[in-house]
Amino acid sequence: MNRTIGHIAVVGAGIAGLTARVELAAAGFRVTSFDKGRGPGGRTSRRRAERYEFDHGAQYFTARDPRFRAVVDRWVEAGSAAVWDARIGSLRNGRWVAGSGSTPRYVGVPGMNQPAKELAEAGSGELHLGTRVHAMVREGSDGPWRLHDEDGGLLVEADAVVLTVPPEQALTLCDAVPAAQQPLAATEVDPCWTVMAVFDPPLDRELDPGWDGAFVNEGALAWVARNGSKPGRPATDAWVLHAGGEWSRRYLEQERDWVQRALLSAFFETVGLPPRDPVWVAAHRWRYARPRNQPVDRFWWSPEDRLGLCGDWCAGGRVEGAFLSACALSNAIRVHASSVG
Ligand SMILES: Cc1cc2nc3c(=O)[nH]c(=O)nc-3n(C[C@H](O)[C@H](O)[C@H](O)COP(=O)(O)OP(=O)(O)OC[C@H]3O[C@@H](n4cnc5c(N)ncnc54)[C@H](O)[C@@H]3O)c2cc1C
Repeated sequence: MNRTIGHIAVVGAGIAGLTARVELAAAGFRVTSFDKGRGPGGRTSRRRAERYEFDHGAQYFTARDPRFRAVVDRWVEAGSAAVWDARIGSLRNGRWVAGSGSTPRYVGVPGMNQPAKELAEAGSGELHLGTRVHAMVREGSDGPWRLHDEDGGLLVEADAVVLTVPPEQALTLCDAVPAAQQPLAATEVDPCWTVMAVFDPPLDRELDPGWDGAFVNEGALAWVARNGSKPGRPATDAWVLHAGGEWSRRYLEQERDWVQRALLSAFFETVGLPPRDPVWVAAHRWRYARPRNQPVDRFWWSPEDRLGLCGDWCAGGRVEGAFLSACALSNAIRVHASSVG
């Protein structure tokens, strides 16, 4: 019940996992982190192909909380992020209407994964990439947690575990902790089909008026953006198209080619231009993209189980929320550890 917490395993190296790694190490814990991806960043990822680049997950982030703003300021100073001074609005019936918000939109530079790389550098403790945590077991209520890979091999033994993976994935790891299952099972996360396409000659010359990004929210699409308009990107007419949650759910198991054709056709209809073939195109399926609801307030922590859950799904479904959720959980663990240690 009162096992001292010295060593913490963090599962996931997206913004939440990397932030937890930094915060927990700063609080004096030994931290060992795992992510199944080849690089850090999770949904703030960048896709590179030939000479083209796309932010195919998170498009930009805002920084309203002073704590996050301070971190973003440091990224901007280091050249790892910049304001995306974009013409963003909404598209309806082929017409683009300028938006009115004045909150700065930030992007990673040269890609959306750069802030995650900064966080990975800032943290200490082992960070094992390309390593999927397949199972977690604990012997007795006071025993250490043991994390295992797909082959049953022991990855790490730790006093506490922080899970920052999307709720459905966390659920599969939490069968030993019934209390954690309720909030995880209650969270619904929308998928998102994404199409990345490059046009040559560039489409932007034909858009009237010229613009860089638009919320759509009618038909198949939810968002379209000209990736090349972001700072530090190659000067190609690279576009990112995000389908809406409902559409993505309905066509989740469709072939990529079919999705590409469907979303390109919806794109041309939405922007009011005659269809044309891209010079390069690919589709990506985000099975867990954006939370639809939020049954948990900022984080979930069970001192009895020495298990914590955090991530964007606990705090508004955005990059800033992922950061704040991880900070809040890390603080709760620090407070708990100092009360039993
Ligand atoms: C299409 C799309 C568009 C978006 N647009 C925006 C936007 O414009 N602005 C904004 O602020 N936010 C946006 N978001 C949301 C934003 O990307 C997320 O809120 C944020 O990146 C979530 O961070 P996280 O650390 O909570 O989760 P994640 O980034 O999902 O990190 C979880 C990590 O866990 C790893 N993982 C999963 N299972 C395991 C396992 N078993 N073992 C080891 N590792 C595992 C994954 O590889 C991943 O790296 C968007 C997301 C998507 C998908």
